[in-house]
Amino acid sequence: MLWAGHTLTDDDGLPLVPISFDPAGSTLAPVVNYRNEISHQWARRHVLRQFREGQVSRDAICDADFLLVTAGNYHGEPADYPCPVCGGDNLRIVLWVYGEQIGKASGSARNEEEIGKLVDNGRECTVHTVEVCPDCKWNHLLKAETASAR
Ligand SMILES: [Zn+2]
Repeated sequence: MLWAGHTLTDDDGLPLVPISFDPAGSTLAPVVNYRNEISHQWARRHVLRQFREGQVSRDAICDADFLLVTAGNYHGEPADYPCPVCGGDNLRIVLWVYGEQIGKASGSARNEEEIGKLVDNGRECTVHTVEVCPDCKWNHLLKAETASAR
C-alpha cells in the first residue's frame, strides 16, 4: 500500500502525470497579453445568414487562396466546431500578425508561442484570428486584437 501511495506523487508532492501539455504556457515562452479586441462575429453571422437565404453564392464567400489554406494547415489549430458552410470537420483557426514593430514578420501566420517571442522586449503587434476551411475554402476574420508581452 505504501508503494502504491508513492506512485501517485513525486517527492515535491506534485502529480507525476501532467494535467495537460500546453506549449504556449511553458516557462520559456513569454505570456502574451491581448487587449483592444474587436469582434467580427456579427459580420460573420451576417454573411452566413445571407448565404443560407440564397442572397450570396458559395463561390462569393468561399474564396480562401492557396496561401491562407496552406497557413491553416501548417500553422493553424483545429477548430472545435464544424465549418459553418460545408459542415466539414477540417476547419482551422489561424493567427495572422501585423505591425511595424515586428518587421518582416508582419503579414505572416504564427502560433501562440511565436507571437510571444515577437512581442517580447516591449513590442506590440495586431493579431487577426481567422477561420479557414481547406475543404470548401470558407474563411472569415473572427477578431482582431493587440498583442503585447505581459
Ligand atoms: Zn467548409
